[in-house]
Amino acid sequence: MNFDGLDAGMGEYSPSLHGTLDAGLEPSMDPHLNPTLLQAVELDPEGLAVPVPEPVHLMEGMFSELHSVVSEVGIPVTATHFDVQEEMLWMGNHRGHVTSFFGPTMGRYSSFQVHSTDDIRHIQSLETGVLFLSKCNLKCFTRGGLVMFDYPMDEGADMHSLLMTDNNTLLMGGLQNYVVEMDLNTVQETQKFTVEVPGVAIMRQTSRFFFCGHTSGKVTLRDLRSFKMEHEFDAFSGSLSDFDVHGNLLAACGFSSRGLNGLACDRFLMVYDLRMMRAVTPLQVHVDPLFLRFIPTYTSRLAIISQTGQCQFCEPTGLANVADIFHVNTVGQLLMSFDVSSSKQALAFGDSGGCVHLWSDAPEVSFNDYSRETDFALPCLVDTLPQLDWNHDLLPLSLIPTPLTSTEPLLSDWPTALVTPSPRRAPPVDPEILRTMKTVGFIGYAANPRTRPRNQVPYKIKDVELEYDNYNQVPESPIGRDEEPHLYMVPKKFRKVTIKYSKLGLEDFDFKHYNRTLFAGLEPHIPNAYCNCMIQVLYFLEPIRCLVQNHLCQKEFCLACELGFLFHMLDLSRGDPCQASNFLRAFRTIPEASALGLILADSDEQTGKARLGRLIQSWNRFILTQLHQETQEQEGPQAYRGASSSRALRPGVKTVRNISPQ
Ligand SMILES: [Zn+2]
Repeated sequence: MNFDGLDAGMGEYSPSLHGTLDAGLEPSMDPHLNPTLLQAVELDPEGLAVPVPEPVHLMEGMFSELHSVVSEVGIPVTATHFDVQEEMLWMGNHRGHVTSFFGPTMGRYSSFQVHSTDDIRHIQSLETGVLFLSKCNLKCFTRGGLVMFDYPMDEGADMHSLLMTDNNTLLMGGLQNYVVEMDLNTVQETQKFTVEVPGVAIMRQTSRFFFCGHTSGKVTLRDLRSFKMEHEFDAFSGSLSDFDVHGNLLAACGFSSRGLNGLACDRFLMVYDLRMMRAVTPLQVHVDPLFLRFIPTYTSRLAIISQTGQCQFCEPTGLANVADIFHVNTVGQLLMSFDVSSSKQALAFGDSGGCVHLWSDAPEVSFNDYSRETDFALPCLVDTLPQLDWNHDLLPLSLIPTPLTSTEPLLSDWPTALVTPSPRRAPPVDPEILRTMKTVGFIGYAANPRTRPRNQVPYKIKDVELEYDNYNQVPESPIGRDEEPHLYMVPKKFRKVTIKYSKLGLEDFDFKHYNRTLFAGLEPHIPNAYCNCMIQVLYFLEPIRCLVQNHLCQKEFCLACELGFLFHMLDLSRGDPCQASNFLRAFRTIPEASALGLILADSDEQTGKARLGRLIQSWNRFILTQLHQETQEQEGPQAYRGASSSRALRPGVKTVRNISPQ
């Protein structure tokens, strides 16, 4: 609550008015304060040098600052409110912007604009959303910031406070001469009570009365049903700044009028006994009170807060003690708003510099006794994905995970009406097998006649399909291709392409016609080219590629070295075919390779006698063993046997050699 009429009066205070108190209120002098809790607040460096007697952590019953955050620098915080459903603190500022913070660490939860120009004057949390009152609008937003409703007031309204009277009803008062009762279910005005004294700036409720604090300095007590005035306390001659009710006591602070000089803050709190409906002895306090609130623990403790950030606790019946004062370090800014959590464990102060200060007296602070779980936004999926460089030509797109779920249908799914599952008919058993089969018990045994390649099924299931196939009429290669009748059934994409060399040799052949990717192929027209397929498999196994590309040694014929060079060529080629001839030459010199029969004679290759399926398996076993040995050797001392060789070394290897015992 902050009404414009007061600010003018507040400006007239000279700092000397409370100069005597400030001296004793340096933050470092206050034993309740722990410097580690004040990290976010600027402290006087000289004050910090004074040794704090003992680092006091949050002590039960003593308030210290937990955190302070800025929402918008320089924009005054005109309303603060502890959410009564969740562990959240809300603040609204002078420009109609609202921010919420979660928990004692004040992590930012949501932040949104409620009104384009008007300041937020009152915030009230509900079960489903949060109400924000501005001069002539009542808006309701979800905690995440979606509009639930926007209720514009009558012309000329200047609303200042709202009060929830039950779950669905609220009262709104302001500088106009009426108080509006509204039903939140229908978002409609249900009643309008005229008030005798206009300017209802603060409203409170007990089981007996509505209490209305008027800007004129009066507090009126009204009937809960008819809203008729029952009693009136003329608390201050100037204006009322705050009041609170607890049990049988009503305490109020405000301003007295001082003749022509305007208003002066009254250091006496007015206290009323509601049993007798009369004032008891006023309570003198040591700060200029602007806000006051009962924070009952075992007694009816009262917190009194000044605009400069001093806060004093006292018993409404006893004497105030100077030792019970603490100071909110606002760095020179004035406090504009104040709220107490429903658990009474936390205090929030909003200042004119846009900062919200959270204070607490409990180490494990909770704003409410039974808070609901807060819904957090799901983490953004995009943030968890690896960064991909789209300019990279060889980037495997498989790095992008497909968000496939088994439950959701895909756009490419066939409609169920068109899908009929039908088992694939097993091909008939070769009559040769049946002829040679011997039956033992009920199991038949026969030798494999090897009339068909492994894992292959003929394309031609029906004779009809032959008529459709006329691919062989169209030569795809610029030079044309052999007419091989056994290729008729293989789809065009998968047919073997035989390169026909012209006079110019390889240079004349357009490989881009067949390979538009940037992945290089290996030329098959060299001896032992059967290894090409496995070489390419190894190339795409990243650990192996890294291993051989990081390997370099002195041996004359080293398969790891040659494979590393070949992979390097494949990296550089950008789609042009490479020859594995250097690698294959080294391969032929390895005695184990010949011993295992991995070196094919030219005749074997041409006649197609070689059992390539079996051969490539042996080759794979051999190459993996060989690579393992060669890379192991490099790590041991034997790798430097040929150190006299003239072969160039990478700098890293050279250093290792220099420090070796040789
Ligand atoms: Zn090597």
